[in-house]
Amino acid sequence: MKANYGYLDGSGQYFITIDTDHCTTCPHHGCVTGCPKGLFEIIVDDYDDCVSQVNEAARKKVKYECAACKPMANRPPLPCMAACTPGAITHSW
Ligand code: SF4
Ligand code: SF4
Repeated sequence: MKANYGYLDGSGQYFITIDTDHCTTCPHHGCVTGCPKGLFEIIVDDYDDCVSQVNEAARKKVKYECAACKPMANRPPLPCMAACTPGAITHSW
């Protein structure tokens, strides 16, 4: 299942999407330690699977939380995506 965390405002769409199908077989949960802002947490979902989600407090300010990882020029690979070797994480901006 793809879970979207974020919001839409006048300046654009700011969503982090996690494909939780990958999380159920993830060997390391690297997103938790890979994000320098600690945006990810592991929870047990309704199907008793351990999956990642963006923590509640961060969801309404992901644009600002992620700003340091996303300079306007010469944007490097995002730490969260690099840490998630199964490829479950995408960003809309
Ligand atoms: S590293 Fe990726 S696949 Fe593993 S738990 Fe985190 S988001 Fe899911
Ligand atoms: S872009 Fe940076 S702050 Fe945002 S989720 Fe990824 S690692 Fe965390």
